Amino acid sequence: MPRPIHATVHLEALRHNLALARAAAGDARVWAVVKANAYGHGIERVFDALRAADGFALLDLNEAQRVRDLGWRGPVLLLEGAFELRDLELCSRLGLWHVVHCDEQIDMLATHKTQVPHRVFLKMNSGMNRLGFRPAHFRAAWTRLNALPQVEEISLMTHFSDADSPAPGHSGVARQVGTFVHATHDLPGERSLCNSAALLRHGQAALAELGASVSATAPGALTADWVRPGILVYGGAPDHPHRTSQDWGLQPAMTLASRLIAVQDVPAGEAVGYGSTFRATAPLRLGVVACGYADGYPRHAPGQAEQHTPVLVEGVRTHLVGRVSMDMLAVDLGPVDLALAAQGLPPAAAGAEVVLWGQSQHGAVLTVDEVAHAAGTIGYELLCAVAARVNFR
Ligand SMILES: *Cc1c(COP(=O)(O)O)cnc(C)c1O
Repeated sequence: MPRPIHATVHLEALRHNLALARAAAGDARVWAVVKANAYGHGIERVFDALRAADGFALLDLNEAQRVRDLGWRGPVLLLEGAFELRDLELCSRLGLWHVVHCDEQIDMLATHKTQVPHRVFLKMNSGMNRLGFRPAHFRAAWTRLNALPQVEEISLMTHFSDADSPAPGHSGVARQVGTFVHATHDLPGERSLCNSAALLRHGQAALAELGASVSATAPGALTADWVRPGILVYGGAPDHPHRTSQDWGLQPAMTLASRLIAVQDVPAGEAVGYGSTFRATAPLRLGVVACGYADGYPRHAPGQAEQHTPVLVEGVRTHLVGRVSMDMLAVDLGPVDLALAAQGLPPAAAGAEVVLWGQSQHGAVLTVDEVAHAAGTIGYELLCAVAARVNFR
């Protein structure tokens, strides 16, 4: 029998989450962001559920090729644009749209020989200071691009640094929108601003709330022509723990599940796991799970009673005990046995279902955001980190 750990991708959840993004987007078209192999879910696995999107946004050229190989003839956007001249040949061949964020990329375009002029997304650095032209240089970049025969159409985009901030008034979104609108108001072309957080928090439902702080912009200015949701499509809340995925009505698109492979009766006073970081203060039934950091589970998830990294066993919420090791981790079976006894069932034993995150067969849900939060990171990182040795079903 193979090791019992496996991941499952829920196509219905993807469809549901994408529909929710579309509702928040109003009239805007929706890029499904599938970079990092669809946030760890696998582009080929999610493709069918996401073909209701208007386009796919990603940044690896091989991922763009895979989307085309799946038969997608619609828009594909390279979020970081070309890395070298050769990439532009692939853009011409596969009909990829690409971001232009620096002068070097304009230089490359100017030397690129193509029969097919390109559709580009000119990116502004409106405050995040990652990619893009500063507002003062944006127009010059636009003018240069506009003069190139290699360019057919220029769209305008920017990216928010603080769209997930709990306080909308201090989020910086209004400031970045103000900067973007001010520098582009008389330039033609479609616009794209929103990631998941901006779309959920400032999209159709939230426009009225934000209206006061960005009064300079017309309603719909945020969702504009294209939105770029990533994490929400996979069921993660971009602003956890301020809001949870349940608050947003999102469904987890990935379940990471395994089984108990052993049970230990630990007397009071004994320690558990490497470094003996956990010591039982009372007798403890301990479940040993076939899942460790070599599967992508975060080693830094705390296994102290006070900190509680949540885990589901037979659909019942319990927590990690001691350190996560390479191939295994341990959980407290106390709460599980209590819940099972209440249903007249025997205590948990080897073979019991364990859900590290996602949906239990018994109906319970544990969001990846909660596990990530306990481990001091974000759901994005855990989803992307599921190891190659974990089989998907
Ligand atoms: C990754 C990415 C997104 C999607 O971000 P989420 O927070 O996952 O919604 C949108 N736009 C750009 C430019 C990105 O790189």
